[in-house]
This record gives sequence, structure tokens and C-alpha cells, in this order.
Amino acid sequence: MAYSTHEIEALVQPTRFHRVLYTDPEIFDLEMERIWGSSWIYIGHESQVPRDRAAPEALPGVGPTTANVVLNVAFGEPVIAVDTHIFRLGNRTGLAPGKTPLDVERKLNEITPAKWKLHAHHWLILHGRYVCKARTPECWRCRVADLCSYRKKTPEPARKAPVRKE
Ligand code: SF4
Repeated sequence: MAYSTHEIEALVQPTRFHRVLYTDPEIFDLEMERIWGSSWIYIGHESQVPRDRAAPEALPGVGPTTANVVLNVAFGEPVIAVDTHIFRLGNRTGLAPGKTPLDVERKLNEITPAKWKLHAHHWLILHGRYVCKARTPECWRCRVADLCSYRKKTPEPARKAPVRKE
């Protein structure tokens, strides 16, 4: 898959590196490495992104999560990248318990229906980022609380009494 300079800029814009790309055009002359999120992936000659998991994983700093993100986002492969949110969710909820991200990934692959695999990664990340948060999950407003086996569900915080004007 070939990317134009403009497309690469758009892809990395949500990361903190996009300003580097804007201010240092020479970065596009690199043959070997490009920035993807917080990791480096191999794009190679003529901006080619490898369409397999092994090639990016062979690079320093690139693990299975980043490789799967590339396959999922760039190529539309139905793979589930297990990041910190999904690892936590898998274990906390009982959905896909595992000691390592790979364990969680295997389990999620087993239980996720094929028609949802393409987007499952994003749905789970968003749920982990905005509802099932790391420090305090917001269980009182969680749409899947009845399906979740987490035992210490967080109750709704008490509302402050309105201040009475004298
Ligand atoms: S009920 Fe709580 S622990 Fe379970 S998925 Fe929802 S937010 Fe997470």
C-alpha cells in the first residue's frame, strides 16, 4: 500500500509527532522508518507498508500490538490489537482473561464473531478509555454492566447538595 505525504501527515496528526513532520520535511526522505503512534514501523522504499505481522514486528520498538494496528487500520484485516485498555478490559470484565496481551488476543479471537472482528479493537479501546477507566471504572453508567463479571463495580458518586442562598 502506498501513502502520499499528505496521507501520512493525516495518519500521524493525532500523535505528538505530527509537528515534527510539519517542521522537518527531511523526515520524509527516510527510507526505513516512519512514526506510527508511539512506535516505529517499517514503511520502506516508496512508502510501502508491509502487509504482514512479521515484518513490522522485526523492527526495534514494534510489538504485536502495533503490527496488528497497522494490519487492521491500514489494510482492513480483522485482527484485534491488544493495548493496555483491552488487556485491562479482558481481565477485569472476564471477557478474555489472560496473563499476557497475546493470551488476551487469542481469547478475543476465539469469542469475537467474525462480523465484528474488524471494529472490535476500536470499540473495546473506546470503552476502556472513556468508561471502563484504569483507575476507577464508571460502572454506574456502563451499558454492559449486566454482562460484566467485575465484582467491585463502582457505584454512582453521591451528588453534591445544591448550595442554598440565604
Ligand atoms: S461494569 Fe464497570 S468494570 Fe464492567 S465493563 Fe462496565 S465499567 Fe468496566
